[in-house]
Amino acid sequence: MPTERQSLIMLFGATGDLATRKLYPALFQLYKKGNIRSHFALIGTSRQKLTDEKFRDLVSKSIENDVTDKKQGSDFASHFYYIAHDVTNLAHYSVLKDKADELDKKYKLGGNRVFYISMAPNFFGTVAKDLKTQHVLSEGPGFNRLVIEKPFGRDYESAKALNDALSASFEENQIFRIDHYLGKEMIQNIEAVRFGNTIFEALWNNRYIDNIQITLAEKLGVEERAGYYDNSGALRDMVQNHIMQIVSLLAMEQPVAFKDTDIRAEKVKALRSLRVYNVADAATNFVRGQYASNGAEKEYRREDGVPADSNTETFVAGKLLFDNYRWSGTPFYIRTGKKLADKFTRVDVVFKKPLVDIFAFPQNGSTPLNANVLTIYVEPTQGFSIVVNAKNNASGFQTEPVNLTYLEDAKRTKETPQPYERLIHDVLKGDGTNFASWPEVANAWKFVDQIRRVWDIQQPMFPNYIPGSMGPVAADELLARDHREWVYKLNQ
Ligand code: NAD
Repeated sequence: MPTERQSLIMLFGATGDLATRKLYPALFQLYKKGNIRSHFALIGTSRQKLTDEKFRDLVSKSIENDVTDKKQGSDFASHFYYIAHDVTNLAHYSVLKDKADELDKKYKLGGNRVFYISMAPNFFGTVAKDLKTQHVLSEGPGFNRLVIEKPFGRDYESAKALNDALSASFEENQIFRIDHYLGKEMIQNIEAVRFGNTIFEALWNNRYIDNIQITLAEKLGVEERAGYYDNSGALRDMVQNHIMQIVSLLAMEQPVAFKDTDIRAEKVKALRSLRVYNVADAATNFVRGQYASNGAEKEYRREDGVPADSNTETFVAGKLLFDNYRWSGTPFYIRTGKKLADKFTRVDVVFKKPLVDIFAFPQNGSTPLNANVLTIYVEPTQGFSIVVNAKNNASGFQTEPVNLTYLEDAKRTKETPQPYERLIHDVLKGDGTNFASWPEVANAWKFVDQIRRVWDIQQPMFPNYIPGSMGPVAADELLARDHREWVYKLNQ
């Protein structure tokens, strides 16, 4: 049987932004570490006409900052081959097949093939179909795996149509839907923290947790992505995929074993018990925003490529409720947006306050007890903190909140593999843990579609927040209504 170190990667969209900025550097890290080496080859394809040499130049340029040994860099690039290919032209696939067969023999790849589609989403279905009908998939003991970039549809119906198209050529366990948040160190750490620590898992439910908050904040605006973004908006671009994946990791039950099929089964169960809102509840529990100008920075509607009357949201906040035994009554609050105060991702798990504050007698002078809060810092800082109540060092008996913090140092953060390195390695190993399965994607769309339906019929009051803030006032009111507040506030 061929091993995970033997593989041909066929990359569609090989001259694109993602390939050059993320995929080649990720592959180079795997090469340096010996996870791929002599039994590895890559066929890059796109419409442009390039020779193998020119393609290798492009690959070498994209890894130049990571090369410490010139020979290693050029050895790596020598495994790259290029074929100009218009994916809509059926005749071109036989050229790909012949090249794949040739390289399979040359590098002894055992028939292992990864088809990575890094192109506009309207091509995903066509390429998957034609790979099968034109016999580019290998036959025999090797594997055939398909890697699909985001976005996976723009609502449940289009996602289902895409999935049906992929399923005609590939089994579910051969399809790897990329959600790069699942490749992040601290997102993967959620399971370690939850299931590796009695002090958390025993309390990880509605009896002890008051609410959970997830924030994915961006400081930048739409930059050059206006065309794509204005068609998508924050709900589709961030909530349906990244946030719903984080929510499912936080909400799921303990899997039977730490392996992809068991983990995915629990994530799907969690998403299925998420309450899908009716019109009134969707309007009450979700807030949208669009950034205004603050004088120095343009408002969204004046960005290049954005229509002057655009109603696309650049901010979303929402309250999610689960109808299951573990979470009933404990809301998950989410928020994400562009042009916010800073760029960061964090999860705040807010525990319930002690039922009785025995220190709160008037002559004492103690501040009221704080809720314990576990914060998972995902990026840019990686680490955790937990707020506990402790005695201060005054002469009387007074309590104060103390922050126990573990933040990874810059060296460790730098050594942490980047998401695409991990995810490509997982594909080669055939480990689907950190990819979105179809039932997860489907349930996430069903939830998000309800919000979208309401927003599509109601006129928003845009713009409604200024750059450098944490979104519209309504996002704070969403929690204030429940007598709560965001743990992360401005000027902290
Ligand atoms: P891009 O526009 O930079 O590159 C597209 C590639 O497809 C180019 O190589 C182009 O030559 C090729 N192509 C276009 N039409 C073709 C055709 N008919 N036949 C053959 N090749 C054709 O796009 P990108 O930014 O690299 O994005 C690729 C995918 O990755 C998209 O699905 C995108 O949503 C996703 N993605 C990108 C990023 C990013 O940072 N760029 C991040 C997340 C997800």
